Amino acid sequence: MPPVIKLKPQRDKSFRHKHPWIFSGAIAFQDENPSPGETVAVLSSEGDFLGWGAYSPNSQIRVRFWSFDEQELINPSFFHNRLQKALAFRSPLFQDSKTNAFRLVYAESDDLPGLIVDKYADYLVVQFLSAGPEAWRTTIVESLMNLLQPKGIFERSDVAVRKLEGLQETEGVLAGLLPPDRLEIKENTYSFWVDIKQGQKTGFYLDQRDNRQKSTENIAGKSVLNCFSYSGGFTVYALANSASHVLSIDSSADALELAKENVQLNNLPLDRCDWLAEDVFVALRHLRDRALSFDRIILDPPKFAPVASQAQKAARAYKDINLLAFKLLKPNGELFTFSCSGGIDLPFFQKIVSDAALDAGVNAKITEYLHQSPDHPVSLNFPEGNYLKGLVCKIV
Ligand code: SAH
Repeated sequence: MPPVIKLKPQRDKSFRHKHPWIFSGAIAFQDENPSPGETVAVLSSEGDFLGWGAYSPNSQIRVRFWSFDEQELINPSFFHNRLQKALAFRSPLFQDSKTNAFRLVYAESDDLPGLIVDKYADYLVVQFLSAGPEAWRTTIVESLMNLLQPKGIFERSDVAVRKLEGLQETEGVLAGLLPPDRLEIKENTYSFWVDIKQGQKTGFYLDQRDNRQKSTENIAGKSVLNCFSYSGGFTVYALANSASHVLSIDSSADALELAKENVQLNNLPLDRCDWLAEDVFVALRHLRDRALSFDRIILDPPKFAPVASQAQKAARAYKDINLLAFKLLKPNGELFTFSCSGGIDLPFFQKIVSDAALDAGVNAKITEYLHQSPDHPVSLNFPEGNYLKGLVCKIV
C-alpha cells in the first residue's frame, strides 16, 4: 500500500475542482517520509480516497495528482496511456506536413504534472520540472521511444523551478543520438534552425506559432518592427509575406545571428532587414528620438512577472514598452502586444495596454485577442496553464 496523505478538514477544495495540486498547508497527516516522486494516496479528513499523486517533500506544492481514479495503477502502462492520449490530442492539429515542431506534452494540461515534451522534427526535448516525472524519467523515456521512435531524446531540465523541488538543473542525451548543433524544423511551411541543446526554452517559442501566422495578415508592403525577436520567428513570417522592411531587436547577439541565418534559410531578402542587438527599452527611445515610425510593431517580451507578487513591477515595464510602441506606430498602424507572464492575467494586461495608449495620446481599438497555440491547451481544471495573452491594437 502506498504511503497515505490525509488532508485537513475543508481542505479538499482543490480536489473538488479536480485541480491537480495539494499545497503543504492543506495536509493534516502523512505517513513517514515518502521519497521524492513516490506515489501517495491522498485522503480527505474523513478518510475518503481522493486520488493518487506524486509526493514532493521540498516543494510548497507537496502533491501533484496523477489520477483521481482509485482503480488506476500508477505504473509504466499509466504513463504510456497518458502519453498516447497527449499524442492523439495533437495528431489532428498537425496532419499536413507544414509543421514538424510542436509541444507534445504540456504538463498539468495533459494530466502529466511537471512533464514537458517538445518535438523538433525527429528529435524530442523533455523537461522534468517536478519530483513526480523525475522519479519516472526512465519509464517516460522508454514510452516516448516506443511511441514515437525519435532519433534521439534530449533533456533540457536546466530550469530554475527544479530548485523548488530540491532538484538540480540538468541536461543531456537520454536516448538515441545527440542532436546536431543546428536542427532544421518546419513551421507553417517556413524553415528554422533550432539549437535544442543551448537555445532558449527548449529551442524555439512553439507557443507563438499561430500568432506568427496571424501577424502576416495584410502585411504586404508594410514596415515592421519586431521587438524581442529571438531567432526571427515573426521576422521570417513578415518577409515571406512581402513586408517591405523588418527591423528586429533583441539583446542577444547570438539570437540575432540565428535570425539572420533563418532569413537566408528561407531564401528571403536580407536587404529588407535591419538588426539591433540592444535592450528594447533603450532602443525604442532611440527610434522615437530619430522620429522613425512603423506600420506594424510586435512586442513579445520575456516573462516579466512569473508570479503574481511581481505583477506591479512588471506592469511598469509592460506599460513603458507599449507606450513607446504606440508612439512609433504610423496612422492605421497595428500593435501585436504579448505577455507570457503567469502573474498577469488578461484583464490586467489589457488595462496596462490601455493606460499606455492613453499616455501615448493615441486612439486604438482591440481587433483581436490572441492566445498560445493549441498544442499548449488549457485544462478547465488548471487555469494556470493559460499564460500567453496577446492583443492586436489598431490605431484609428
Ligand atoms: N518573439 C520570439 C520570442 C521572444 S522570447 C519568437 O517568436 O521566437 C524573448 C526574447 O527577448 C529573447 O530572445 C531574449 O533574448 C530577449 N530579451 C530579453 N530581455 C530583453 C531586453 N530587455 N531587450 C531586448 N531583448 C530582450
